[in-house]
Amino acid sequence: ATPTALLVASGRGAQLGVFLKSQQALESARVIDTVVLDKTGTLTTGEVAVTGVRASADTTPEAALRLAGAVERASEHVIAKAIVAACGAVPAVGDFRALPGLGAQGTVDGQHVLVGSVRLLADNGITLPADLDEARAEWEGAGRTTVAVAREGAAIALIAVGDTVRPRAAEAMRDLAELGLRTVMLTGDNAATARAVAAEVGIDEVLAEVLPADKAAAIEELRAAGRTVAMVGDGVNDAPALARSDLGLALVTGTDVALGAADVILVRTELDVVPRAIRLARATLRTIR
Ligand code: ADP
Ligand code: MG
Repeated sequence: ATPTALLVASGRGAQLGVFLKSQQALESARVIDTVVLDKTGTLTTGEVAVTGVRASADTTPEAALRLAGAVERASEHVIAKAIVAACGAVPAVGDFRALPGLGAQGTVDGQHVLVGSVRLLADNGITLPADLDEARAEWEGAGRTTVAVAREGAAIALIAVGDTVRPRAAEAMRDLAELGLRTVMLTGDNAATARAVAAEVGIDEVLAEVLPADKAAAIEELRAAGRTVAMVGDGVNDAPALARSDLGLALVTGTDVALGAADVILVRTELDVVPRAIRLARATLRTIR
């Protein structure tokens, strides 16, 4: 592309809410065959809230939430913030430790408390009792993320958290399919929840339970398998995966435009901008060749 053509594309892009940062981004947008999307904050709004609590017989939902909230108050995760928002005052936590992609732990009222995925509990040799496991299946099947709470090595409660799918996500996935692109969800969330959300928006393939540190490697595996990959993320903890893809697309809200990792910055946070950006790049290259 000549510099002039790039400028024209950028001008048209700005109207659509797309910023093309480099000629390389235009070239990449033309050749990609796969679009990988982060789940929380990208396919969904990221405005996570607690939607249900199930406690085992030896405790109450309030008591379990209080223990979970005490640990989560020290955590940065959006799930942690949702749990804290659902609690009243919480006691102090000691020996806090964040477990990236899994949960967090600490000491509350002299007891060891573990909060996080069912997989985190399983990794610690803790299984869910039947009633909590029933709630897990029901909530995950409905696309909720489930957070388990263990006290002194025993599961005492399950918390459902969730946000909503972005309004134009399904429409955007249909447009990407029309452009001949394969869509893949990449998430740290459990497989059942991920599949439910994928079915709701119409995603072709799901890569679930991928730890934050392994997301960039997941992109590289797709590329090693011969795919040319665009990654769409919210930039919160997927910057390495965005950087490792052939084309990184970051959904940004007005204030985070400084984000540097992606070749293309989407200024508007609506997902329909993704197929538009790809169409624009293809049309621009057709015009100038
Ligand atoms: P995502 O891919 O949605 O950004 P993460 O990799 O941050 O997700 O987390 C993956 C999963 O680990 C979450 O869905 C949740 O089950 C669990 N998890 C991570 N951090 C926490 C936390 N602070 N509290 C509870 N659960 C957590
Ligand atoms: Mg995310």
